[in-house]
Amino acid sequence: MALLLERELAGALKFVVTWPSAHSYRLHGPDMLDLACPRCSTPLNEGWACPSCNSSPRSLRGIPDLRVVEDAYLPNADDWAIALKLDAAYERLDFRGLLDFYFDLCPDLTSADRARQVSHILTAGPRARGWVEAIGGGLPDGPWLDLGCGSGSFLSEDLKAGRETVGIDVAMRWLLVARKRLDEAGRGHVRLVCGNAERLPFADRSFGAVVAGDVIEHVADQAATLVEAHRCLKPTGRLFMATPNRFSLTPEPHVGVWGVGFLPRRWMLGYVRWVRKMDFRAIRTLSYVGWTRALRRSPFGGASIVPPTLPGTDLAAMGGLKRRLAVGYNRLVANRLGRAAMRAVGPLFHIVATRDDGPPPTQPPLRETTP
Ligand SMILES: [Zn+2]
Repeated sequence: MALLLERELAGALKFVVTWPSAHSYRLHGPDMLDLACPRCSTPLNEGWACPSCNSSPRSLRGIPDLRVVEDAYLPNADDWAIALKLDAAYERLDFRGLLDFYFDLCPDLTSADRARQVSHILTAGPRARGWVEAIGGGLPDGPWLDLGCGSGSFLSEDLKAGRETVGIDVAMRWLLVARKRLDEAGRGHVRLVCGNAERLPFADRSFGAVVAGDVIEHVADQAATLVEAHRCLKPTGRLFMATPNRFSLTPEPHVGVWGVGFLPRRWMLGYVRWVRKMDFRAIRTLSYVGWTRALRRSPFGGASIVPPTLPGTDLAAMGGLKRRLAVGYNRLVANRLGRAAMRAVGPLFHIVATRDDGPPPTQPPLRETTP
C-alpha cells in the first residue's frame, strides 16, 4: 500500500507556476489571475518584476522563479543547476525521456524506488479524479491552484473543462518535466510558477480551489502554508489535501520503513538512516488528532478528515498480499466503524477545508460624542 502514497520524489518539496509566453505577467483565459510579489504583495509587472522591490526574477520555459526561501530538501541553487540540464535536453527528449533523464540526474534512489515513483507518476489519472470528487461541487468561480504540482500529474488530467488551472512547485526541475508533459498532453495553456507554499505569489482571493496532493508533509512550515492557501482562496473556496497518516500500520510511504511514525520525532531521522540509509529530514506527517488540531488553529477553523477509498488502478498495480490488504481496507472504509478505525491507523487522509468568511461584518453603532 505504501506504493500508492509514493510522491514523485521522496522528500522533494514541490511548488511552481508557467506561462505560455515568457513575458505575460497575468494568467489569461476564462479567469484572469493576478500575480503578487511574494515579498511585499505588490502586483507584478510585465516580466514578473516587482515595482516595489525592484526585483525581476529569472525564468525557464516561461516559468518564473518566484521563490523567496530555500527548499529544505535541496538548495535552490542545486535545483536550478538540475533544471538547466533538463532545459538543455528539453527539445531532444519526449516526456518519458525527460522523466528518465530526471532520475538519472538525481541518483539517490534505488532502482526499485525509481520504478515505483515512475509508476506512481504514470498512473495519476484515477487518483486525480478521486481528489476532484473529494473536493465536491458548488465552488466559487475562478481558477484552481495545484499546490506542489510536481511532474504535473494532476494538471495533465483534463478534469475541469474550461477552467483555468495553475501549477506551483518549489522545484524548478520538476516544473520543466511538468511543462513537457502538459505540452505533450495538449495542455500547453496550463500555467506554471516556481514558488514557495509559505509565500504564494498570488493576490488575495484568487482561486476557487487549492489542491495539494501529497504535499503538505513536505513543506517547511505547515501552519504558514495553511494561512497562505486560505488567503488565496475565494470565500467558500476549498482546500484539498491528500497526505499520509503518521500512525499508519503500513510502511512510511516516502522511505518504505515500518513504524517510523510511532517514534518520537527526534528519533525518526536516525532510525530511517539506520534502516534504509535514507534522508527523512524534509518529511513531517501528522496523525488524525494532529491534523484536527492543526486545522482548528488555522484560519479555516476546521476540516473534514477522512480515510479515502483506494482507486482500482492503484490496487491493480499491487502484488498479492499488498493487494489483498488494500481490498480489505476499502471494505473497512465503506462503513462507519471501519472508517473510525482507519482514521486512527489507515495509510492516508483526504482533508477538505472551506474558507468560510462568515456573515459580512456589521457596522458598529455610532457612538455619540459630546463636543
Ligand atoms: Zn515586492
